[in-house]
Amino acid sequence: MNNIECFSSCFFTSSYKFNILILAIVAFFTLVGYLMSKESLTKVRYYWLLNVLILSNIPLLYLTMLCDMLWFLKIYIIYVAVAMLVLLTIPVFYRLYLSRKYELTRFLEMESLLRKLSGSAKAKLYIFGSALPKAFTLGKDVFLSAGIIDLLDPEELKAVIAHEAFHVKQNRYPLIRNFKILTFLPSTKLEEYADLYAEKIAGEWLESAKEKIRNFYLDRSS
Ligand SMILES: [Zn+2]
Repeated sequence: MNNIECFSSCFFTSSYKFNILILAIVAFFTLVGYLMSKESLTKVRYYWLLNVLILSNIPLLYLTMLCDMLWFLKIYIIYVAVAMLVLLTIPVFYRLYLSRKYELTRFLEMESLLRKLSGSAKAKLYIFGSALPKAFTLGKDVFLSAGIIDLLDPEELKAVIAHEAFHVKQNRYPLIRNFKILTFLPSTKLEEYADLYAEKIAGEWLESAKEKIRNFYLDRSS
Protein backbone atom coordinates (compact mmCIF):
# COMPACT_ATOMS: atom_id res chain seq x y z
CA MET A 1 0.00 0.00 0.00
CA ASN A 2 1.50 3.35 -0.91
CA ASN A 3 1.60 6.28 1.47
CA ILE A 4 -1.31 8.21 0.01
CA GLU A 5 -3.59 5.19 0.25
CA CYS A 6 -2.31 4.57 3.75
CA PHE A 7 -3.00 8.17 4.77
CA SER A 8 -6.49 8.20 3.34
CA SER A 9 -7.43 4.86 4.88
CA CYS A 10 -5.98 5.94 8.23
CA PHE A 11 -7.96 9.15 8.00
CA PHE A 12 -11.31 7.64 7.07
CA THR A 13 -11.14 4.88 9.66
CA SER A 14 -9.99 7.23 12.42
CA SER A 15 -12.30 8.31 15.21
CA TYR A 16 -10.72 11.78 14.99
CA LYS A 17 -11.72 12.44 11.41
CA PHE A 18 -14.63 14.69 12.37
CA ASN A 19 -12.48 16.74 14.75
CA ILE A 20 -9.93 17.21 11.98
CA LEU A 21 -12.62 18.14 9.47
CA ILE A 22 -14.19 20.67 11.83
CA LEU A 23 -10.79 22.25 12.56
CA ALA A 24 -10.03 22.35 8.84
CA ILE A 25 -13.36 24.07 8.10
CA VAL A 26 -12.87 26.63 10.89
CA ALA A 27 -9.30 27.19 9.64
CA PHE A 28 -10.66 27.81 6.15
CA PHE A 29 -13.07 30.48 7.37
CA THR A 30 -10.34 32.02 9.52
CA LEU A 31 -8.16 32.24 6.42
CA VAL A 32 -11.02 33.97 4.59
CA GLY A 33 -11.38 36.38 7.55
CA TYR A 34 -7.63 37.01 7.48
CA LEU A 35 -7.68 37.82 3.78
CA MET A 36 -10.81 39.98 3.94
CA SER A 37 -10.13 42.05 7.07
CA LYS A 38 -8.71 45.51 6.53
CA GLU A 39 -8.00 46.60 10.08
CA SER A 40 -4.47 45.63 11.06
CA LEU A 41 -5.23 44.35 14.55
CA THR A 42 -8.16 42.26 13.35
CA LYS A 43 -5.86 40.78 10.74
CA VAL A 44 -3.33 39.86 13.40
CA ARG A 45 -6.05 38.20 15.49
CA TYR A 46 -7.17 36.09 12.54
CA TYR A 47 -3.56 35.32 11.86
CA TRP A 48 -3.03 34.03 15.42
CA LEU A 49 -6.17 31.97 15.30
CA LEU A 50 -5.17 30.43 12.01
CA ASN A 51 -1.79 29.42 13.40
CA VAL A 52 -3.38 27.88 16.48
CA LEU A 53 -5.82 25.93 14.35
CA ILE A 54 -3.12 24.62 12.05
CA LEU A 55 -0.95 23.55 14.97
CA SER A 56 -3.81 21.96 16.88
CA ASN A 57 -4.46 19.81 13.82
CA ILE A 58 -0.99 18.30 14.06
CA PRO A 59 -1.49 16.18 17.21
CA LEU A 60 -4.82 15.03 15.81
CA LEU A 61 -3.20 14.00 12.56
CA TYR A 62 -0.50 12.31 14.55
CA LEU A 63 -3.06 10.28 16.51
CA THR A 64 -4.84 9.41 13.31
CA MET A 65 -1.97 8.36 11.13
CA LEU A 66 -0.07 5.17 11.62
CA CYS A 67 1.70 5.16 8.32
CA ASP A 68 5.40 5.08 7.51
CA MET A 69 5.50 8.71 6.53
CA LEU A 70 4.91 9.55 10.16
CA TRP A 71 8.63 10.29 10.52
CA PHE A 72 7.85 13.55 8.76
CA LEU A 73 5.33 14.51 11.44
CA LYS A 74 7.64 13.34 14.21
CA ILE A 75 10.46 15.57 12.98
CA TYR A 76 8.06 18.48 12.70
CA ILE A 77 6.78 17.98 16.25
CA ILE A 78 10.35 17.86 17.60
CA TYR A 79 11.12 21.03 15.64
CA VAL A 80 8.04 22.74 17.11
CA ALA A 81 8.97 21.71 20.66
CA VAL A 82 12.58 22.87 20.36
CA ALA A 83 11.64 26.11 18.61
CA MET A 84 9.01 26.94 21.23
CA LEU A 85 11.50 26.37 24.01
CA VAL A 86 14.09 28.59 22.33
CA LEU A 87 11.54 31.28 21.51
CA LEU A 88 10.14 31.40 25.00
CA THR A 89 13.52 31.53 26.73
CA ILE A 90 15.27 34.02 24.41
CA PRO A 91 13.40 37.09 25.73
CA VAL A 92 14.23 36.09 29.32
CA PHE A 93 17.94 35.77 28.57
CA TYR A 94 18.01 38.86 26.42
CA ARG A 95 16.49 40.90 29.23
CA LEU A 96 19.07 39.59 31.62
CA TYR A 97 21.82 40.49 29.15
CA LEU A 98 20.41 44.02 28.75
CA SER A 99 20.27 44.69 32.47
CA ARG A 100 23.85 43.42 32.88
CA LYS A 101 25.29 45.37 29.97
CA TYR A 102 23.39 48.64 30.28
CA GLU A 103 21.92 50.71 32.97
CA LEU A 104 18.14 50.41 32.75
CA THR A 105 15.93 53.27 33.91
CA ARG A 106 12.19 53.68 33.73
CA PHE A 107 10.92 56.34 31.33
CA LEU A 108 7.91 57.34 33.36
CA GLU A 109 7.01 60.52 31.45
CA MET A 110 5.92 58.54 28.43
CA GLU A 111 4.94 55.28 30.08
CA SER A 112 1.31 56.33 30.44
CA LEU A 113 1.21 56.88 26.67
CA LEU A 114 2.52 53.36 26.10
CA ARG A 115 -0.07 51.95 28.50
CA LYS A 116 -2.87 53.86 26.81
CA LEU A 117 -1.85 52.84 23.28
CA SER A 118 -1.18 49.21 24.12
CA GLY A 119 -4.23 48.78 26.33
CA SER A 120 -1.98 47.10 28.87
CA ALA A 121 -1.84 48.54 32.38
CA LYS A 122 1.29 46.48 33.08
CA ALA A 123 3.37 47.72 30.14
CA LYS A 124 6.64 49.34 31.16
CA LEU A 125 8.88 51.74 29.30
CA TYR A 126 12.65 51.57 29.85
CA ILE A 127 15.64 53.55 28.69
CA PHE A 128 18.90 51.68 28.21
CA GLY A 129 22.22 53.44 27.98
CA SER A 130 23.21 52.88 24.39
CA ALA A 131 24.09 55.75 22.04
CA LEU A 132 22.69 53.91 19.00
CA PRO A 133 19.06 54.74 18.19
CA LYS A 134 17.13 51.58 18.99
CA ALA A 135 13.65 50.57 20.11
CA PHE A 136 12.23 47.11 20.71
CA THR A 137 9.73 45.20 22.78
CA LEU A 138 10.17 42.16 24.99
CA GLY A 139 6.85 40.87 26.25
CA LYS A 140 5.10 43.87 27.77
CA ASP A 141 8.27 45.91 28.22
CA VAL A 142 9.40 48.46 25.67
CA PHE A 143 13.06 49.49 25.52
CA LEU A 144 14.26 52.76 24.04
CA SER A 145 17.94 53.57 23.80
CA ALA A 146 19.26 56.88 25.15
CA GLY A 147 20.40 57.44 21.54
CA ILE A 148 16.89 57.31 20.10
CA ILE A 149 15.61 59.74 22.74
CA ASP A 150 18.40 62.20 21.86
CA LEU A 151 17.85 61.83 18.14
CA LEU A 152 14.07 62.18 17.87
CA ASP A 153 11.64 64.98 18.61
CA PRO A 154 8.92 64.21 21.18
CA GLU A 155 6.30 63.75 18.41
CA GLU A 156 8.56 61.29 16.58
CA LEU A 157 9.25 59.46 19.81
CA LYS A 158 5.50 59.10 20.29
CA ALA A 159 5.28 57.49 16.85
CA VAL A 160 7.99 54.99 17.81
CA ILE A 161 6.20 54.22 21.08
CA ALA A 162 2.95 53.68 19.13
CA HIS A 163 4.74 51.16 16.89
CA GLU A 164 6.08 49.31 19.94
CA ALA A 165 2.66 49.53 21.64
CA PHE A 166 1.32 47.45 18.79
CA HIS A 167 3.90 44.75 19.62
CA VAL A 168 2.85 44.88 23.29
CA LYS A 169 -0.72 44.27 22.13
CA GLN A 170 0.48 41.24 20.15
CA ASN A 171 2.56 39.97 23.04
CA ARG A 172 -0.40 39.55 25.33
CA TYR A 173 -0.34 35.97 24.13
CA PRO A 174 3.38 35.20 23.82
CA LEU A 175 2.87 31.53 23.13
CA ILE A 176 0.50 32.28 20.30
CA ARG A 177 2.69 35.01 18.94
CA ASN A 178 5.58 32.62 18.71
CA PHE A 179 3.55 30.26 16.57
CA LYS A 180 4.07 32.52 13.62
CA ILE A 181 7.50 31.20 12.77
CA LEU A 182 6.35 27.61 13.16
CA THR A 183 3.90 27.76 10.34
CA PHE A 184 4.29 28.74 6.74
CA LEU A 185 2.38 31.97 6.87
CA PRO A 186 4.02 35.32 6.11
CA SER A 187 5.32 37.01 9.26
CA THR A 188 7.00 40.17 7.98
CA LYS A 189 3.48 41.59 7.71
CA LEU A 190 3.44 42.18 11.46
CA GLU A 191 6.00 45.00 11.15
CA GLU A 192 3.86 46.61 8.47
CA TYR A 193 0.82 46.37 10.73
CA ALA A 194 2.76 47.93 13.61
CA ASP A 195 3.69 50.82 11.29
CA LEU A 196 0.08 51.23 10.12
CA TYR A 197 -1.04 51.35 13.73
CA ALA A 198 1.60 53.98 14.56
CA GLU A 199 0.71 56.02 11.49
CA LYS A 200 -2.92 56.12 12.55
CA ILE A 201 -1.86 57.61 15.87
CA ALA A 202 1.13 59.74 14.97
CA GLY A 203 0.59 60.48 11.27
CA GLU A 204 3.67 61.58 9.35
CA TRP A 205 5.84 61.66 12.47
CA LEU A 206 6.50 57.96 12.07
CA GLU A 207 8.04 58.46 8.63
CA SER A 208 10.20 61.35 9.84
CA ALA A 209 11.37 59.25 12.81
CA LYS A 210 12.29 56.37 10.49
CA GLU A 211 14.06 58.78 8.15
CA LYS A 212 16.19 60.16 10.99
CA ILE A 213 17.12 56.67 12.17
CA ARG A 214 17.97 55.58 8.62
CA ASN A 215 20.16 58.66 8.13
CA PHE A 216 21.89 58.07 11.44
CA TYR A 217 23.02 54.60 10.36
CA LEU A 218 23.86 55.78 6.83
CA ASP A 219 26.12 58.56 8.15
CA ARG A 220 27.73 56.13 10.49
CA SER A 221 28.57 53.60 7.79
CA SER A 222 29.96 56.19 5.35
ZN1 LIG B 1 8.38 46.47 15.17
